[in-house]
Amino acid sequence: MKREVVVAAAVTTAATLVGLAVFFRHWRRRSERRWRQVRRILRNLAWCSATTAAKLWDVANELACDMEAGEKGGGNNIRLLVSYLAPLPTGDEKGTFYGINLRGTNFLILRARLQGKNEPVTELHKQEIAIPTAIMANADSTRELCDLIGLELSKFISQHSETDNEAQTRERKLGFTVSYPINEDPASSGIASKWNRLSVDDTVGKELVAEINEAFKKHGVDMRVFAVVNDTVGDLAGGRYYSKETVAAVSLGMGTNVSYIESPEQVLNEPSNPAETVINMEWGNFNSFNLPLTEYDTSLDAESLDPGNRIFEKLISGMYLGEIVRRVLLKMAQEAALFGDSVPPKLTIPYSLRSPDMAAMHQDTSEDYEVVEEKLKEIFDINDSTPMAREIVTEICDIVAERGARLVGAGIVGIVKKMGRVENRKSVITIEGGLYDHYRIFRNYLHSSVWEILGDEHSDNVIIEHSHGGSGAGSIFLAASQTHKNAHS
Ligand code: ADP
Ligand code: MG
Repeated sequence: MKREVVVAAAVTTAATLVGLAVFFRHWRRRSERRWRQVRRILRNLAWCSATTAAKLWDVANELACDMEAGEKGGGNNIRLLVSYLAPLPTGDEKGTFYGINLRGTNFLILRARLQGKNEPVTELHKQEIAIPTAIMANADSTRELCDLIGLELSKFISQHSETDNEAQTRERKLGFTVSYPINEDPASSGIASKWNRLSVDDTVGKELVAEINEAFKKHGVDMRVFAVVNDTVGDLAGGRYYSKETVAAVSLGMGTNVSYIESPEQVLNEPSNPAETVINMEWGNFNSFNLPLTEYDTSLDAESLDPGNRIFEKLISGMYLGEIVRRVLLKMAQEAALFGDSVPPKLTIPYSLRSPDMAAMHQDTSEDYEVVEEKLKEIFDINDSTPMAREIVTEICDIVAERGARLVGAGIVGIVKKMGRVENRKSVITIEGGLYDHYRIFRNYLHSSVWEILGDEHSDNVIIEHSHGGSGAGSIFLAASQTHKNAHS
């Protein structure tokens, strides 16, 4: 090879190397800048979402004050409805009981046998029946709905014979609960929107009771409905069946709701007066400047169907957790190219990240975050995420879940505080719902926050229990409470 050729080749190679080095340095700088930006957004999220014990106490105290004011008739965000004025179960009830749990697009028929408080629910039968769209969409179709319930219940009874020896001789008891659905499906908004505010003196509830009893008669069902109540009232009855110290029931699924016993001391100290006042509190509506809101919550709320409302629910419930995470990811994709130079189009679709997928990513323990990789592909069509980006995803999930769970803990402490039971009494709170049941890290954060807020001295006084019998089973315990003399005159 001639010398000139060799020199030329060497020069070219050197130039290429220099070029590559420049390119690499530039790329590295850009990449470092992006990562700094990602970290900055993450730190800011963590900072704005922080829930110190002091902050949680502020939230708890404020909820307690709002409850106090609400019970005295003062107006504020949370809605308090007297929902049940009758004895709750004592735990001594035995026998086979029936329940109906009316939900957004379907209803459950339940039957179970109770054999005392130290025994689990047995012989639980559940049947889910879809409500036809024509009935759901029409707010004036209560009669048709009740007719369907009566018909299906009569079929259910004839198909499931009772093994309980005394069942034939005893009057059958049935409890009726309604789960107010968070409105995802506009088709369900007709009749379901009527069940939003069930209280003891409510006309919609009374209409439902009258129609149901009429339909039972028509279909030869030998049962009577005395009250239609929110499903958390049923959960509270279930909690009470197992422990007389149960004072509140929380539902934590797609949405959130609470029922609690007004002045439990009064009730427990006066066993001669068996009727208890159960209040259904729409705590999802709670709002306070102490809530740790971020820019993502503000934009989520502004773009929601009910801006300015249900702020607490938008921080803690299953409907919203994934959406908050998606908003943070979108910002990181737009401002820091978390998923490469272009923003993945599907990341811009609201509510595309659901909380079960968020939980699956958050709880991914594989070395390279394989579950996160899979979910990013499946949900957002992101096919080339880096392990570092996946780690960031799990950190965002952690911040959002931790904040939500700890706020639930603060809310629970607020309720117990309002009852004056933090220092000197045991209080059992029963929790039901898909978010609590299936999101292990969320549940752990919730439990540990209560312990942290109350400290060693008082944390043993608040016991959080999983609700008994699963979704809808509260209706069975309400049925059980009807065995008491003077109940539901
Ligand atoms: P609701 O009665 O409020 O409609 P459920 O109690 O039936 O809701 O719970 C369903 C909700 O729970 C889902 O919408 C979801 O938000 C949440 N959820 C269910 N499974 C999981 C899971 N594995 N991880 C996290 N959240 C879950
Ligand atoms: Mg539910």
